[in-house]
Amino acid sequence: MDLDLKNKVALVAAASRGLGRAVAEELAAEGASLVICSRQQETIDRVANDISAAIGAEVLGVAADVSQPDDVVRLVNSGIERFGRIDILVTNAGGPPAGSFQSFTLDQWEAATRLLLHSAVELARQVLPGMKERRWGRILNITSIAVKQPVDNLILSNSLRAAVTGFARTLANEVASFGITVNNIMPGYTRTERVEELSRMMAEKEGITPEEFVAGWEKEIPMRRIGEPREFAALAAFLVSERASYITGTSIPVDGGWIKSLI
Ligand code: NAD
Repeated sequence: MDLDLKNKVALVAAASRGLGRAVAEELAAEGASLVICSRQQETIDRVANDISAAIGAEVLGVAADVSQPDDVVRLVNSGIERFGRIDILVTNAGGPPAGSFQSFTLDQWEAATRLLLHSAVELARQVLPGMKERRWGRILNITSIAVKQPVDNLILSNSLRAAVTGFARTLANEVASFGITVNNIMPGYTRTERVEELSRMMAEKEGITPEEFVAGWEKEIPMRRIGEPREFAALAAFLVSERASYITGTSIPVDGGWIKSLI
């Protein structure tokens, strides 16, 4: 299937590693030019060079903290300056801390809101005028399986991913007639650096090996394994392509069957 991404410019946020990086690599392999960001210039430059060298794509790395609106404006403007436009936006950010209701102050709720909700809103606000003008665009938010089935002890993520989903569903209706789609992918447990760090930390706390800790998750997954970032990225590439032109306002899991609901 030709995804027709060859002349497209994609901005992938929070892409120095993990799911964001996997999506960036997949889009580059399909021929898109890329704008990628993370918070450290040195790191994002290294990743931009690596992707460029491995795949031959044009990649601009920008240091930007997506929870800061000024950084988001600078990020989008840098991309437009370099490539003339942004056709595809993939929103992403680091995960908020785990914890129960009692463990968070209002300041921590506000920080998580800036990180997960405001980042997606502001990125969309900055790219939409150009997409509307060209009457083509793709917005894809990386959310979580927590949208369909809240995960214990992740109250910040459970609450704010739902907010992003409400925002995306409403925006999808507003911009559909401009040829712009807005969708979300809900990753399940996927083998990224964050998940590896988390499993090492939790295993140490529980006095077991990281493999034993991950096996606890795998018991809950019908495929009996956690996912690989490239399995997630394959769906992302399809959803931002021309071929997904009639899919909008939806959330699709890549979770090995973890969500047990019918729809
Ligand atoms: P990761 O920690 O491996 O990678 C996160 C990336 O985001 C890094 O490149 C980091 O530099 C960047 N980043 C973090 N905060 C940023 C900020 N404020 N501004 C700009 N860049 C920032 O994480 P991951 O596993 O790839 O997860 C990505 C997102 O998907 C997270 O929000 C996570 O909670 C969510 N998620 C992941 C899984 C999973 O199993 N991996 C499951 C469900 C949801």
